[in-house]
Amino acid sequence: DPVMAEAAAGIVNTLEDAGYEAYWVGGCIRDELLGRPVHDMDLTTSALPEQVLGLFPRCVPTGLEHGTVTVLESGFPFEVTTFRTESGYADHRRPESVTFVADVTEDLRRRDFTINAICMGLSGTLIDPFGGEEDLAQQRIRCVGSADERFGEDALRMLRCIRFASTLDFRVAKNTWRGLLRRRHELAHIAVERVYAELTRIVEGPRPLRGLAMLARSCLLARGKAPFPWDADQLAAAAASLTRIGELGSARLRWALLLHALGSPAEEADRLMRAWTFPGAARKDAARVLRFREAWTAEEEAGPDDGPAASRRRFIAAALTFGCDAAEGWLDVLAALPGGEEGAARVKAAREWLAGMPVRSLAELAVSGGELTAALDRRPGPWLGSLLQELLLAAAEGSVPNERDALVRQAKRVEIK
Ligand code: ATP
Ligand code: MG
Repeated sequence: DPVMAEAAAGIVNTLEDAGYEAYWVGGCIRDELLGRPVHDMDLTTSALPEQVLGLFPRCVPTGLEHGTVTVLESGFPFEVTTFRTESGYADHRRPESVTFVADVTEDLRRRDFTINAICMGLSGTLIDPFGGEEDLAQQRIRCVGSADERFGEDALRMLRCIRFASTLDFRVAKNTWRGLLRRRHELAHIAVERVYAELTRIVEGPRPLRGLAMLARSCLLARGKAPFPWDADQLAAAAASLTRIGELGSARLRWALLLHALGSPAEEADRLMRAWTFPGAARKDAARVLRFREAWTAEEEAGPDDGPAASRRRFIAAALTFGCDAAEGWLDVLAALPGGEEGAARVKAAREWLAGMPVRSLAELAVSGGELTAALDRRPGPWLGSLLQELLLAAAEGSVPNERDALVRQAKRVEIK
């Protein structure tokens, strides 16, 4: 976004004019060098937070003790952070103390990976003391300094490592991977919402399978206890069902497929997603897809082998109960599972059933509860709900046309029975 770039340049300019150093840093430089879209720009400066606050009329003291001020310019927020070093990471996540420093190289040294430790000033010259540009060219994730130490300081970096490797399609440098393996048990110290935030970026990113395979291979997540109750073998076994997860365009369906591959019943999946601090709407959508799966499978297994018409009826009944979008979602998931030709034929048939439904919900039924009570001359009661459901199923499977008179006639017939 040229307006954003212009605004950021204005901030760098103002800081330089006031006698400070200021640079673009981190993700924006990495993405720019990779020719990828830049979604936000972080700046780093020798100015102290109070000095930054003094230079810009519109800013928010986001994290003064860590040196971060958010400057608003042309409607964009920019995080401007004072050069700093960190020390003492007793909890494996947050530094106990932050010290402001004068040298930008010291600031770059505290950053996680070499590709995130490059900065650039107004002249366009890169400051890249750890070989980040070379690692970008080699498509390699490498820690700044000793991987073992860096992951020991902040365990979340291990998950970031896999996230970057998966979204950028980069390899992980040998020493970095070794350090990750040595420190993997320490991820347990990280709050579940931070873990989830990285996981979503892996699962919903461009190469989820690669990230999930690395998670399985590293045993980073395989704690075998809540809220990630799987062990390494289960993760590895699931990977066989996930080969096409990347083809699913929708995030909720990727999660549904993942939870299915891990063998979670819908109830458990719902509980897990809750524990992972999933947003409510996405969680409900994904869980509903799995509930549809269960209803349909149970019906099919319970039903006698009584032919395609009955099979279709059971599918439609489940779709009406859990929603056609859940049914459609499950079919997409099923299509992404390795099911062979038989599986593909089953999905194709079910898609046709779904597409052929003349009504998909009570709201589309051509008769209302009021009309039924009047036509049957009965007081409303629990019977009405079940009658409506029965009519809906009949109309949805096409055994009765979705027309008022036909449905009323059918209602009377059912009543007499
Ligand atoms: P993206 O925004 O695409 O996730 P990013 O690299 O900008 O990528 P941020 O989390 O926005 O990631 O962090 C900005 C910069 O701060 C990073 O580029 C990196 O230099 C540094 N950084 C972020 N998190 C850590 C961490 N846990 N440990 C060390 N440095 C970090
Ligand atoms: Mg960023």
